[in-house]
Amino acid sequence: MSKLTIPEVLVRVAGLDSRIYSVDGETITEALRALCQRHPQLEQHFFHDSGQVKEHFMLVVDGALAAPDAPLPEASELEVLLAASGGSGSTELPHLSNDERARYARHIMLPQVGEDGQRKLKAAKVLIVGTGGLGSPIAMYLAAAGVGTIGLIDFDVVDQSNLQRQIVHSITTVGTPKVSSARRRLRDINDQLHLVTYDAELNEENARDIIPEYDVIIDGCDNYATRYLINRVTRKYGVPYVYGAIFQFDGQVSVFLPGRGPCYQCLHPEAPPPAIAPNTNNKGVFGVLPGVVGLLEATEALKIILGIGDLLAGRLLIYDALSMRFREVAFRARPSCRACGATVEELCL
Ligand SMILES: [Zn+2]
Repeated sequence: MSKLTIPEVLVRVAGLDSRIYSVDGETITEALRALCQRHPQLEQHFFHDSGQVKEHFMLVVDGALAAPDAPLPEASELEVLLAASGGSGSTELPHLSNDERARYARHIMLPQVGEDGQRKLKAAKVLIVGTGGLGSPIAMYLAAAGVGTIGLIDFDVVDQSNLQRQIVHSITTVGTPKVSSARRRLRDINDQLHLVTYDAELNEENARDIIPEYDVIIDGCDNYATRYLINRVTRKYGVPYVYGAIFQFDGQVSVFLPGRGPCYQCLHPEAPPPAIAPNTNNKGVFGVLPGVVGLLEATEALKIILGIGDLLAGRLLIYDALSMRFREVAFRARPSCRACGATVEELCL
């Protein structure tokens, strides 16, 4: 039995709990295969389809660099390092300027954030799907909080009737693409922000190119089909998915962590028929509702990036603005789920 240490970034993207594992194997490749049997979501990160270990890893056995097919002595220490990180074992975080230290002082003084946490936020890439009611407060608060890269995808144009709740837009941007309108406002909030905009609808083709580029995907969309698509693609590429939905006076929030707990389709196996499906466009939405729900989503996204607190994984938070009550429904991975094909490990959660 050898001790295997993997890079922190893999712990995060694969939704694992630890960097350190005990593994058996005659060679380094066999040891990595043994870990992938326990955590199949690691397979795509460690191995090419051909079965070769990916070249961007440095494999270190008892302090010396080794080839993938090198023998692994009994009770040795195997460390997998990311070559791009200069061998430090973790991805390099960007430094903060003095200006940024002043700007984020109220964050940095929180022990749960600190300067390292603020650097994690600066390094983070978050995609917000939809730049409407939910996407507006999410984008504005994440920009203010110092998230380094924000992606916005929306194909819609700002309409006067949006201004009742979509606060990132304004009177002067009615008639312009929502992502361009949002860009103007977000630039004004944080000129250091790296903003990537997609004036398009998220679809089967572009989702596979766009989603893997990000660390967290936040749901600001208004339909089931897009959510099933986000769910499938985030699951495939190991990207956390923060879900939020609104209708009239009610909201829902949850978090789906690939490889760790249930997914969106475990929660909603089938979309309801159109006759009873909630639709904000023809049934209305209370103007402040997306503010509340969107910021609950933004909160979970920041916690995922910082690695703090308890997430809403396996928990659906339901908000009723009329009775001003929050309640929580626990849910588990469904063995029959077509999206995640729940593993035994997940069912034990
Ligand atoms: Zn599922």
